[in-house]
Amino acid sequence: MIIKLLFPRGFCAGVYRATSALDAALNKYGAPVYVYHEIVHNKWVVDYFRQKGAAFVNSLDDIPDGSVTLFSAHGVSPQIEQQAKEKNLRYIDASCPLVQKVHREARRFVQQGYSVVLIGHPHHDEVVGVQGEAPDKIFIVKSKESIDALPLTAKDKVAYITQTTLSLDESAAIIEYLKSRFPNIVGPTVKDICYATQNRQNAIKTAANEFNQKNLVVKAVVVGSSNSSNSIRLTEIAKQQNIPAFLIDSPADINSDDFTDADVVLLTAGASAHESVVEQVVKYFQSTFDARIEEARICEESTFFPAPILP
Ligand code: SF4
Repeated sequence: MIIKLLFPRGFCAGVYRATSALDAALNKYGAPVYVYHEIVHNKWVVDYFRQKGAAFVNSLDDIPDGSVTLFSAHGVSPQIEQQAKEKNLRYIDASCPLVQKVHREARRFVQQGYSVVLIGHPHHDEVVGVQGEAPDKIFIVKSKESIDALPLTAKDKVAYITQTTLSLDESAAIIEYLKSRFPNIVGPTVKDICYATQNRQNAIKTAANEFNQKNLVVKAVVVGSSNSSNSIRLTEIAKQQNIPAFLIDSPADINSDDFTDADVVLLTAGASAHESVVEQVVKYFQSTFDARIEEARICEESTFFPAPILP
């Protein structure tokens, strides 16, 4: 068995920024540091910080007034920021700069009089936060059917923006459909789907294409949690190439029977998955299947976002 260790994989610049900010806040203020929503959508990371003293909440009502609070990498709506001010929270905004960019685009389009179609998953923290910029002007769509149901006509002034962690191929198809329904629709000058999402998707797609043509039994393992949008997209891309794909939080989630016939396992990790878990998975395949490790790099990454300044 060969383990193809794909690169880029795992932590992106936005996740490094958010987790570094939480680390720094815990060191400076001590426990508890409240975190609005999961700092990133990954069970290992959330458990790690919970043990260090982070208290994760889904409502600011659960935070005592004046407490140190961190907003997660997925960002928040203006309403949440306002509520934090009213509660005198000492808050740190750890939202990814690339998510902040989507907020700015939403505000700009609304200020210019557009109705904004936000392509994304309706209950995802990032999408909820962006829609909060103008709840009655921003419409969430995730499929052609939801576009058909929009209360907008071809004569309306319409713009689109996207969640940062979508599938490149699926969002391209949805944008094409939007353009056919709204010929004058405008979009962002630079794509919203972030560099890390694109690179991780391209890596698994390239490897899947390569090995599928060699008549081998190929399977894919994605380290990531079931609520991680970008991790789920990686499994979908493998499955679209007829490669069985398994999303796992840790080696404990692996059923060895699923891999006894595999010649090649493509191993990658979502943008919120920690490299130490990838290392555990590598060890699992080495000890269970005597697997050989080979690396497959499709590009380098150098994006870095400095951590936010603590109050
Ligand atoms: S996946 Fe992209 S948008 Fe999300 S935190 Fe990472 S860099 Fe930012």
